Amino acid sequence: MTEPLTMTLGEDFPEIREGVRRICADFPGAYWRELDEREAYPSEFVQAMTDAGFLSALIPEEFGGAGLPLRAAGVILEEVHACGGNAGATHAQMYTMGTVLRHGSPAQKAKYLPEIAAGRLRLQAFGVTEPTSGTDTTQLKTRAVRDGDHYVVNGQKIWTSRALYSDLMLLLARTTPLEQVKKRTEGLSVFLVDMREAVGNGMTIRPIKAMINHNTTEVFFDNLRIPADTLVGTEGQGLRHIMDGMNAERILVSHESIGDAKWFVRTAVKYANERVVFGRPIGQNQGIQFPIAKAYAQAQAAELMLRRAAAAFEAGLPCGEEANLGKLLSAEAAWEAGEACMQTHGGFAYAREYDIERKWREARVQRTAPISTNLILSYIAEHVLGLPRSY
Ligand SMILES: Cc1cc2nc3c(=O)[nH]c(=O)nc-3n(C[C@H](O)[C@H](O)[C@H](O)COP(=O)(O)OP(=O)(O)OC[C@H]3O[C@@H](n4cnc5c(N)ncnc54)[C@H](O)[C@@H]3O)c2cc1C
Repeated sequence: MTEPLTMTLGEDFPEIREGVRRICADFPGAYWRELDEREAYPSEFVQAMTDAGFLSALIPEEFGGAGLPLRAAGVILEEVHACGGNAGATHAQMYTMGTVLRHGSPAQKAKYLPEIAAGRLRLQAFGVTEPTSGTDTTQLKTRAVRDGDHYVVNGQKIWTSRALYSDLMLLLARTTPLEQVKKRTEGLSVFLVDMREAVGNGMTIRPIKAMINHNTTEVFFDNLRIPADTLVGTEGQGLRHIMDGMNAERILVSHESIGDAKWFVRTAVKYANERVVFGRPIGQNQGIQFPIAKAYAQAQAAELMLRRAAAAFEAGLPCGEEANLGKLLSAEAAWEAGEACMQTHGGFAYAREYDIERKWREARVQRTAPISTNLILSYIAEHVLGLPRSY
């Protein structure tokens, strides 16, 4: 922290938590297991969350949203995960619109934000990652070339989650070839693509069979023509526009890890108290207790860091350090808690009806996406500790 910060760390939004829990009670483990088996999208759950207004949490009231602080939105996601569900199908609706909110034209905001807030339009697809360039976003190959009052898009995205269930996609594409820009971070632009018009007219979506039910896809662009007014912000500054929202995204999705950690710890404690082997509850053994206690401590520490990150974000202060630390610590805490829960349940952890193996698979993704642990460590090394840039 470079500046002193006074803030309320205790704000916990109990009414919001209660409201989310009430919805989640209608979507128990059996619901998520069945979807997982079919690799299906949780349409009913998304609708319920939309109807309750939770997915418009971060859209300002003037555009029909709830205008809540970032921490409140995080709490919504956390509760879904703490209840045993998964917010992956919904979370992008919360943060992807941030780029439109911050960089969109008044006409774009007036057209899209109220529709997104009302749930009539889904902005769930975020097309950044590509198969060849990976984390090195500046090397992405998808091109958008201006042609009169349109851009023509060619290329491919991978891991574009929810693309089959979204009306709109926020797309990052190169508008100026890499050889012609002064800095490699320039020459990329963001577009708000109407997928309802694009699919079948130059856009093809193929689902990816994945380890978790994240409805993720490959998206192919073959001379897709999009109107020039779908450009969001300044042409060539798209990477910067998207990076502006990264801290918020990291803080939000980290709350899901905290929810996972809480679910794992609660589930492990319950079983450790009930399961009797060698004539005593297994929870009496320190070999069972300690990993659960350690995971609990890690989750508490991660949550505290996230509260700090969210408070700094809300106060308009720099929060890159806190957001990245929170992301790292929460993903690791969920992973440790998942391991402890797996181990506590012995063979039963492998039985699908316990939901542990599903939650364990789901929790793992946070060590890879939306940013991998290594890249966070690189950020901390370089930007916080002042070590040389490693890549
Ligand atoms: C379920 C799921 C959903 C996703 N949803 C989306 C989505 O909706 N939209 C989207 O755009 N993307 C999405 N992604 C992509 C995700 O953001 C990337 O997978 C992630 O950022 C890592 O990129 P990569 O897979 O290309 O790995 P790579 O960049 O190929 O890296 C592979 C490994 O090498 C490490 N590595 C690479 N460079 C360095 C370095 N310099 N120093 C140290 N280690 C390094 C990485 O940390 C990683 O462990 C999703 C991914 C998954 C798995």
